[in-house]
Amino acid sequence: MTEWFEEQLHPGVSQRLSMDRVLFRETTEHQDLVIFENRIFGRVLALDGVVQTTEGDEFIYHEMLSHVPILAHGAVLRVLIIGGGDGGMAREALKHPGIDEVTMVEIDPSVVELCRAHLPSISAGAFDNPRFKLVIADGAKFVEETDARWDVIIIDSTDPLGPGEVLFSERFYRGCKRCLTPGGILVTQNGVPYVQGAEVTNSHQRMSPHFSDVWFYVAPVPTYQGGHMAFGWATDQAAHRAATASVVSERFRRAGFDTRYYTPEVHVASFALPANILKLLA
Ligand code: SAM
Repeated sequence: MTEWFEEQLHPGVSQRLSMDRVLFRETTEHQDLVIFENRIFGRVLALDGVVQTTEGDEFIYHEMLSHVPILAHGAVLRVLIIGGGDGGMAREALKHPGIDEVTMVEIDPSVVELCRAHLPSISAGAFDNPRFKLVIADGAKFVEETDARWDVIIIDSTDPLGPGEVLFSERFYRGCKRCLTPGGILVTQNGVPYVQGAEVTNSHQRMSPHFSDVWFYVAPVPTYQGGHMAFGWATDQAAHRAATASVVSERFRRAGFDTRYYTPEVHVASFALPANILKLLA
């Protein structure tokens, strides 16, 4: 008898994935965690009943939320990841040879430990990379207290529920701003506008007092159901978002690694927002 995982993130809509094999299930200090195998998406991590990442489609999300800011910036030495417990974001950021350090601030150590054990393909050794630094803390407190600075900050958080809620606040974005080097870039996991439109509107309003260029870019991530996934973009250096495909392409070539979704052309095109998402920014 097949067991089913049912995600009810949005009122009136749910998605079900067959749990062909449950690898681990635990209520940690912060959230309910389950890792299971599905015949289409491979291994799946869910937290508090919400799909976080899957072996099948994680490459789209992790490539777009890391390579777009890093290649748009062009001179990144240090990256801060808030959340990111599965290690996929760290894996992608560490592919850039020019990056000296990737710091990941994760509130729940169980996510890191269990993903390292049961979802190793996603971190793919990132946790053991000498340029990787793990901090177990609440990201919201961390950005208000640290004296360190970063060129790119990636918010790879859960949805604005439970421990992740604070990572969508204006106070948190202000804290991120203080941790960025001049011209640095903040990018965020910002939900699926068709079913979470308020997240785009709210982030736009809450980032705008602290950054002169606030925008969004999009990509389709199948298990984040509802169409485009939005990524928040905030910086004081408007030229970053205007980086052309040829400029980004040369930087990508010099970085010397392959990708499965990201291309310089997709990078540039991802900032072109359809009218229904533009309306959320009004
Ligand atoms: N790709 C996923 C998505 O788009 O929903 C996010 C994946 S990652 C597993 C999300 C991580 O954020 C989890 O490991 C969770 O523990 C962490 N997290 C949630 N709230 C946090 C906070 N306040 N500070 C640091 N990490 C947090």
